[in-house]
Amino acid sequence: MQRIKSVLEEAASTLASCSDSALLDAEVLLCLILDKQRSYLRAWPDKPLQPEQINRFSTLIKKRQKGIPIAYITGSREFWSRDFHVTPDVLIPRPETELLIELSLKLIPADKPIKIMDLGTGSGIIAITLAAERPHAQVSAADVSRAALRIARLNANKHHTNNIQFYQSDWFANAPDGKFNLIASNPPYIAENDDHLQQGDIRFEPQTALCAADQGLRDIKIIADTARSRLEASGHLLIEHGYDQQGRVQAIFKHFHYDNVQTVTDLSGQPRVTYGQWN
Ligand code: GLN
Repeated sequence: MQRIKSVLEEAASTLASCSDSALLDAEVLLCLILDKQRSYLRAWPDKPLQPEQINRFSTLIKKRQKGIPIAYITGSREFWSRDFHVTPDVLIPRPETELLIELSLKLIPADKPIKIMDLGTGSGIIAITLAAERPHAQVSAADVSRAALRIARLNANKHHTNNIQFYQSDWFANAPDGKFNLIASNPPYIAENDDHLQQGDIRFEPQTALCAADQGLRDIKIIADTARSRLEASGHLLIEHGYDQQGRVQAIFKHFHYDNVQTVTDLSGQPRVTYGQWN
């Protein structure tokens, strides 16, 4: 008879060589099979598991052993305390992106019907979080990928946000006319030859959501350029970028004559979001 604790220990040692969070991964996957919270595993370490549960669990452990990210196996990832559906068609939400939300919320008045655009919405985390936190706002969200938009719409329904319009568009190319008070984007910004692309979860994520030409800056340049004619006076542009791109991204903003250009650091102390104002 196999019990929770021993099954977890065995799975964690199987995953030790391919994951630096082996026990946590095993716990999350067992919770998925048992439909329980992690506290249950700690409370009932000696609870016997059914052979059928063990079989399903080993299938998931094998996927993880191949490197498949936990979020793609469970089909979900938490962001700003909400659960988002994810598939390999979209980037897995990152905690760094919460900085972009924090900053946007500081810039958006709670009681005004201001207009927001999320460029490259992917799973929809930025648009949906802002729409939910600012119900008076009118949010637009664009992505070039039809498959990503399907996931984003699903997430918008899941979180009952009805103040978002989605558009299939390559940045602003097919976005509706009109101007915005705030444009936010977490664009692809990794250089195409970056070694990180060969490591960990990132290997399984959509390359178009991760990489950009021109040392990762191509899309940031396009966005900073085109957003100028899409911002209301005093509107803000916020862009997430790589930890080593602060100087180059600030230079791009300044080249296009944005004012009050600033960069803020994420929880691990890395420069992560640059923003500026269009006057
Ligand atoms: N906006 C989504 C996110 O922040 C997707 C970003 C992307 O695909 N580059 O996760």
